[in-house]
Amino acid sequence: MKHCLAALLLTAAPAPLLAQAAAPPAPIAVDPKVAALRDAALDDDYAWGITEGLTTEVGQRLAGSPAEARARAWAVAKLFAMGFSNIRIETFPVQTGTRGIERAEIIAPFPQALVVNALGGSGLTGPEGVTGEIVAFDSVDALRLAPDSVVRGKIVFVDHHMPANQDGSGYGQFGAPRRQGPTLASKKGAIAIVIRSIGTDHNRTPHTGVMTFSDGAKPIPAGALSIPDAEQLLRILKRGKPVTMRLRLEGTHKMGTSGNVIAEVPGRDLSLPPILVGGHLDSWDLGTGAIDDAAGVAIATAAAKRIMDAGRPLRTIRIVWFGSEEIGLFGGEDYRAKYGKQPHYAMLESDFGADKIYKVDSKLGDARKTEAEAIGRALAPLGIVTGKYDEADGSDIGPMLADGLPGVGLSQDGTRYFDLHHTPDDTLDKIDPVQLRQNVAAWTAVLGVLSGGIEEPKARKRR
Ligand SMILES: [Zn+2]
Repeated sequence: MKHCLAALLLTAAPAPLLAQAAAPPAPIAVDPKVAALRDAALDDDYAWGITEGLTTEVGQRLAGSPAEARARAWAVAKLFAMGFSNIRIETFPVQTGTRGIERAEIIAPFPQALVVNALGGSGLTGPEGVTGEIVAFDSVDALRLAPDSVVRGKIVFVDHHMPANQDGSGYGQFGAPRRQGPTLASKKGAIAIVIRSIGTDHNRTPHTGVMTFSDGAKPIPAGALSIPDAEQLLRILKRGKPVTMRLRLEGTHKMGTSGNVIAEVPGRDLSLPPILVGGHLDSWDLGTGAIDDAAGVAIATAAAKRIMDAGRPLRTIRIVWFGSEEIGLFGGEDYRAKYGKQPHYAMLESDFGADKIYKVDSKLGDARKTEAEAIGRALAPLGIVTGKYDEADGSDIGPMLADGLPGVGLSQDGTRYFDLHHTPDDTLDKIDPVQLRQNVAAWTAVLGVLSGGIEEPKARKRR
């Protein structure tokens, strides 16, 4: 019914008005080769193969650990088998450690065990643990404002409420209890700190993550309670009686070796700056690092492989699987020290899970606006909107983008990312293969545009 009415209205429109209206602009075509590569990537199996292989055959791979070294060896073998060139490992030293017994017990008024994990860089306890009264704050700001006398000799608990959102922007704001809480608590004389996990789930899976003691603060034990356990502690505190906790965070700290794994698809013109694509190889030691960040290295590598399968790009594509992202972006720093002064045509990093990409931003400079727009057009059929032309981000590549190197940022849906991030639950079953393929298709399209044109192998041309 409505359709008939609309048709009637259209046909009834006065002809002169239609004649005066400007003709709609002709649609600007996407390079058919790029479109074909993009569409074929919706059937990609390379990314799943890498994600499944790395999480199964290596599993947890904490920065600087023997597991991360096994992951580098795995990466070299995989990249070689896939046919990439110039494969190498570039190592650097880092501080690492091992997790021991981790336990948080309420001694009084209601004795019971809570689920806790040490944060990365936490001070350690012996088997006797530390025992003290809990002093609770609803934010890091409240802790900052508290007089030292309220905190001294106690175990600090910092609560907060991090809502889930699509772009993951809550992590910046709500990550403060983990990043700043331990130093603040230590400087005020606390004997330990436990925080509500920086996450959005309601599972008994604490979220670890890095923190450092700055400003000369003495390391103290610092743990993350799972969200249901933090809420349990809050209810116990609300009963109004003093709450005593015994916290054991055992483990070791030691020096170890980390490294970046680098491989290339050599371009036809080796004098041109490379396109860097990457993710990070290391993971936390609780899950198997599927969403963070096996999927990321898999997406970047699968896209590069699909370009290589199609022929030889004009520009070299350099794949970097960064080491030690989680404990302080050390892989990015090592790469920046070695190559950061050299020109790069663009940098892209995937490090936000494997859910659908919904937006592309770029920072290629005014002179390359046409190229940035071509990227947007190539991505539109995948349901990806174009955002800003002066913005790109990435964890390891972030400092180099800030230095002024050009980049493209593909934003993934992060609505469920912080349910899993840095928990024992970051495992392969959380990867949706269909959304993973959409990522590969988007990355392939972007590389198709940036590569400067792909020349098919001569043998194939003749056929
Ligand atoms: Zn990550």
